Amino acid sequence: MSSNFRVRFAPSPTGEPHVGNIRTAIFDWLLAQRHEGEFIVRVEDTDRARAVDGAVEVIMEALKWLGLEWDEGPDIGGKYAPYKQSERLELYTKHAEDLIEAGFAYRCFCSEERLDQVRKARSKQENASGYDKRCRNLTDEERARLEAELEARGENSVIRFKMPADGTTTIDDLVRGEVTFENRLVDDFVMLKSDGYPTYHLAHLIDDHEMQITHVLRGEEWLPSVPRHLQLYKALGWTPPQFAHLPIILAPDRSKLSKRHGATSLLEYREMGYLPHTMVNFLTLLGWSLDDKTELFSTESLIENFTIERVSKSGAIFNNDKLDWMNGHYIREMSADELADVLLDFWKAYPPEEIPTLPSREVALKIAPMVQERLKTLRDAAPLVAFLFKDEIEYDAEELIQRRMDADSTRLCLTAAQEGLATLDSFDTESIEATLRGMVKELDVKAGQLFGSLRVATTGQRIAPPLFESLEALGRQRTLDLINTACDRLD
Ligand code: GLU
Repeated sequence: MSSNFRVRFAPSPTGEPHVGNIRTAIFDWLLAQRHEGEFIVRVEDTDRARAVDGAVEVIMEALKWLGLEWDEGPDIGGKYAPYKQSERLELYTKHAEDLIEAGFAYRCFCSEERLDQVRKARSKQENASGYDKRCRNLTDEERARLEAELEARGENSVIRFKMPADGTTTIDDLVRGEVTFENRLVDDFVMLKSDGYPTYHLAHLIDDHEMQITHVLRGEEWLPSVPRHLQLYKALGWTPPQFAHLPIILAPDRSKLSKRHGATSLLEYREMGYLPHTMVNFLTLLGWSLDDKTELFSTESLIENFTIERVSKSGAIFNNDKLDWMNGHYIREMSADELADVLLDFWKAYPPEEIPTLPSREVALKIAPMVQERLKTLRDAAPLVAFLFKDEIEYDAEELIQRRMDADSTRLCLTAAQEGLATLDSFDTESIEATLRGMVKELDVKAGQLFGSLRVATTGQRIAPPLFESLEALGRQRTLDLINTACDRLD
């Protein structure tokens, strides 16, 4: 079945991609997949002051990490290339000039200072838009004079759209239903700036039309701009796509999610050790739900179930505890082999200070099952297994002595364990466990007393993976040496 769904993600390359923008990308992608349509990436880089070098690559890297493959885009091209607005300037200029010809737009010669003054004065009036439309109805002489003055200042004119002075504009939004705006409250907005670049209002609209986009999903902060866009579509004689304005993402205190609440860039979450599928699942639930209970979705089931009808109008709260819980769940769902590879990739990308050189796959395969149950994020793994990579284990000798023990009884226990472990046929978890449990009985101590001392002696960590697995991972010789050192330290 083929369909004509064409959905675009249109990021502005102003820095690292924010989780809110990425949530939009995920919704775009899911919608396209569900309808076997196309997912398009288009770069909106017409705000020269805000464009950041390298940001496009970072955005694409984020999408790739999440597995959101695109069908057309700046790197792979496509039928409607180029997919970077800065490479499509002629198109916007042409349409802006045609709109002047057709009587829907005009050149504005106002200086920044004048615009500032007008804005200030009008902000005190009720129901007034920011610009007084001085240049909208100029006589030929006035226009010539203002143009000459502008040239003398070494500036360029801008092109503004003529918003209807009265009446209303109504959108039928896929999320919010009908929303009506009063035209008189909307400015004659700038379409083409004095630097020759279009504004978002003009550029995205021309591209959505040219690129045959059928659905525009974007953050609700764009809703107030809708009357501009619908009037512009009307002037151009084009049919608008369908719009869905997505709910804002909120912090737990219900304010807008921002830096002060922690990470907001998607790639920071990668660096913090969240899995890509966790992010896809978690971010999809920020504004979409299937019912009031299902939280865990495979990618396939998201594609199967995603509909815009189930996107909510109200703000979605970013809950870090839920994110941790979900990530822990997906970490435990992996096979130990998979987790070993994921950990190795993670440590390679972000070398942890606890692990000075990247371990072999063999070592990673031992580590994965030891830590799997205890991880919320991949970052939690290195501190748990730090002891495996240390030349010297640090602890206070006092810590070796467990409750109701003294230095002598502790030494006795450790020496017995050392002897038992030295003569094991095979130094594996099961044999280690059997020997040490047997020893607890023989020595007539509590399991916690023997194991506690051994844990401190071999890991120096209060929080460490299970003891028997840890000893196997350390290997026989290293384990015996560490116990030896501990006995010496009790003297
Ligand atoms: N470039 C706009 C942004 O990043 C895109 C909005 C839209 O999707 O139309 O906010």
